[in-house]
Amino acid sequence: MRGQIFFVLLAGLLALPGCAPTQHAVVQSTLGKASGSAEMERHIDEPGPVVLETINSADWAVPLSGVLNLKNPQAVQAGLKDRDEPIQVYAHVLRHPQYGNFLVDTGVAQSLVDDPAHAGVGWLVRKFMHLEKLQIRKSTEAILQDLGGKVDGVLLTHLHLDHITGMPAIPATVPLYADERELVVTGWKNMATQGTTDRLLAGKQPLQGWHFQPDPQHRFAGVIDVFGDGSVFAISVPGHTPGSVAYLVRSTQGPVLLTGDTCHTRWGWEHTVEPGDFTDDGARNLESLKALKALVAAHPKIAVRLGHQP
Ligand SMILES: [Zn+2]
Repeated sequence: MRGQIFFVLLAGLLALPGCAPTQHAVVQSTLGKASGSAEMERHIDEPGPVVLETINSADWAVPLSGVLNLKNPQAVQAGLKDRDEPIQVYAHVLRHPQYGNFLVDTGVAQSLVDDPAHAGVGWLVRKFMHLEKLQIRKSTEAILQDLGGKVDGVLLTHLHLDHITGMPAIPATVPLYADERELVVTGWKNMATQGTTDRLLAGKQPLQGWHFQPDPQHRFAGVIDVFGDGSVFAISVPGHTPGSVAYLVRSTQGPVLLTGDTCHTRWGWEHTVEPGDFTDDGARNLESLKALKALVAAHPKIAVRLGHQP
């Protein structure tokens, strides 16, 4: 009988129409030109023009089972058990001599922490996000102040809430960029967060969607040259979400890979273990993680900056 009830509930859930992460408008990106991994790798080890600064906007703690697949044989072998895992929420500041100041992801806005309901964070999300465990280190407001308020765009790795928690501080005129596939309908998981995502993006510019062409070398799901000058590449790494993007930045200090949440943790990177419950498609996420690790193995000068740990 219990089995029958479970089956009926499951059938009901599967029958529900899926849900996109947001209903915010999306248009085709005006920035970015189709590229490929060979083109990206040709200049990867030469210093580039971008001054890059990674800022820890907030310390936080989340379940380890969210950021690491504890069923991965490597994690089982290491005896990892679920617990609270300390993480950080980053914003990366890119200063390009011609194209201006860009953020990769947004950090956390002070106004969101001070009054989450007013910032648009729904009650269910407030309950599950455990914002009481979040400690601001440098708010998005403070980051923007250091830039003299001049931000020319936000490049998003994906649309999970902890990557757009800085949106309340981002001026409404600033262009926002993300993979257009981030908007696809995946399932009922998004139902809990769609309202909050929509409210955080309300009044902002439509999302400018990257349209990735297949990588001629088939190492990645696609590569885009963001400014068309070989300084910053958007790399399609689906799995964590359908439209997850990593960024390769040719900085003045050498090449830097911003993995986004294709890998949240240092342990996950070192042991090639994909994220856990926070990921849409674990198998695909693992493939993308392996592709990023292969890129770094081929170019050991690359400094790796992970989604949520140093
Ligand atoms: Zn994420």
